[in-house]
Amino acid sequence: MPNSMVPRFAADNSNNTPAATWLAFAHLCDHLASTRGKLSKRKAIADFLRPLAAPPAGLAAQFLTGTPFPQADERKAQTGGQTMVRVVREIAGATPEQFSAAYRKYGDLGAAAEDLLRGQAPAGAPLTLEDIHRNFQELAATRMQSAKTSTLLQLLRALTPLEAKYCIKLLLGDMRIGVKQSLVEEAIAEACGEPVADVRRAETMRGDIAAVVALAWTRTLSSARFRMFHPLGFMLATPAPDAQEAFARFLPDGAGTPTGQVENKYDGMRAQIHCGAAEEPGRVRIFSRTREDITASFPELAEWFAMAPEPAVLDGEILAWDPSKSRALPFTSLQPRIGRKRVTPKMRTESFLVFVAFDLLAVREELLLEQPLRERRARLEQWSERMLQAAAANPRFVLAGQPELFSGDTSASERIPRLHLAPAQPVQSAAQIDAAFDEAQQSGNEGLMFKALDSVYEPGRRGLAWIKLKRELSTLDVVVTAVEYGNGRRAAVLSDYTFAVRAGDQLRNIGKAYSGLTDAEILELTQHFLANRIDARGGQILVEPTIVLEVAFNNVMQSERHDSGYALRFPRIVRIRPDKPITQIDTLERVAELFRNQHKGAAANAHGSANVHGDDR
Ligand code: AMP
Repeated sequence: MPNSMVPRFAADNSNNTPAATWLAFAHLCDHLASTRGKLSKRKAIADFLRPLAAPPAGLAAQFLTGTPFPQADERKAQTGGQTMVRVVREIAGATPEQFSAAYRKYGDLGAAAEDLLRGQAPAGAPLTLEDIHRNFQELAATRMQSAKTSTLLQLLRALTPLEAKYCIKLLLGDMRIGVKQSLVEEAIAEACGEPVADVRRAETMRGDIAAVVALAWTRTLSSARFRMFHPLGFMLATPAPDAQEAFARFLPDGAGTPTGQVENKYDGMRAQIHCGAAEEPGRVRIFSRTREDITASFPELAEWFAMAPEPAVLDGEILAWDPSKSRALPFTSLQPRIGRKRVTPKMRTESFLVFVAFDLLAVREELLLEQPLRERRARLEQWSERMLQAAAANPRFVLAGQPELFSGDTSASERIPRLHLAPAQPVQSAAQIDAAFDEAQQSGNEGLMFKALDSVYEPGRRGLAWIKLKRELSTLDVVVTAVEYGNGRRAAVLSDYTFAVRAGDQLRNIGKAYSGLTDAEILELTQHFLANRIDARGGQILVEPTIVLEVAFNNVMQSERHDSGYALRFPRIVRIRPDKPITQIDTLERVAELFRNQHKGAAANAHGSANVHGDDR
């Protein structure tokens, strides 16, 4: 790179660097929201970051990924939609009707606030990115609603309408500016002239994009080291339309050597287990797909993996297990644990939990992500052998089992480890895949996973190296946008849910479902929705879009009933997906594809009708 093009990196926030104001950031976001091309977006972000010192550039990068705090950070701002509505109405002096009209016009709380606050002059000097960050920290530090409300009031009063719009959107985790983390990583690379692969690698290690900017700005990306007990990103799979297509991608090569392996797709909760650190024996951390620490929800797994003889990071699925049949129980048996901060002894006796491992990401200090799957799998088998031996030799194993479940027969629980290996077979023939699919279903699993044997582990990416084939003809992951009280027995609870898919940066409704959840789930959701109510009209309550559901349905129709132009026929809720962020729900493109496939008759295929290339699932 010629010298004149080398960006100036300020070591501190000196006067040479332009002030990183929140207003400039809000303008950038508005520009990104209206810019279509990825390259133009990337350039706009790079141009914004380049002249900034590392701390504000890091914050800007962090905020552009759509969350106030790094993914690996446990802090949450926890400001519900209802608090936000109250604060916006108070500052704008808006009546409920005025608020309703603005919300309905935009379908987005940030944009509605911008409209209502128009003409308001902010109190005090312009805020910087660092000022905003301090306020977010304050919000995260208090659990008291009154303190949150007063911090928010003060903050929003200090902002222009445009600034308030993006502050609210960021706090609600709903930026809708068409920017993914991978694009921010590319922009960081472009801004500092370092290879994007180095930026990505550092992000994988640190799970904190602001920290990565600090390294990039001082040209020390290569110093990022993997640290045990800090979550790595999860590799994701692309849906296959049918078994033939999946098989075709993993045909044995010319010499008949397999290129792929097939595993069952388990219907549990994806998790990453870190265990066995030599310097902290007994320490175990379990992370969810959104990189949250969920160790407290699964104490029996933490106790069991505390016996690990050597440090490892495992990728797999937590399942409720039927020890007598050696198979997984339905997801509903696991569900009471999800999101639970304290697990009672009674809950521990209700289901026996295991971890089915399918990948090994690190052993000792060695990160294995760059190793091909065949190598990682071999190492996983070796590690798991050692782990099982260590557990069997450990007197704690008996305690870590659950004698209660075996009606006093403790010898049975002694023999049941908490670690299972996901069986994997090399992909050989279409007939073998059909049989494997049927077998997976008979064992109560969701379908199959195909994985390329020479593929590296790509954290946070959804590529074609992993392909999933699901049971249902079609299910969609959607977000609830509006709720209503039910009838009869359900008259006191919010049990009717209108839900949407993503259309670019918008949400578009495609259906309404009433059935599929348990009474306990409906009760819990009712409380959640009441706290996140944004607006009401007639019997319908608009809610902050946070609850992701997986819905099954018979087919897709074109319809004017919802603003997507489509409606699902006989939708029913398969389950709540607390593990899936709203950014990963299904898209209108996928709905359109399902609709077209139905018409081509492809939907009649029993193994699914998703589009492999269409969207980012
Ligand atoms: P979906 O949740 O439908 O996007 O499918 C991806 C999810 O399948 C992963 O996040 C895992 O939780 C789950 N899964 C189940 N079995 C496997 C497996 N053998 N390999 C990888 N992922 C699996």
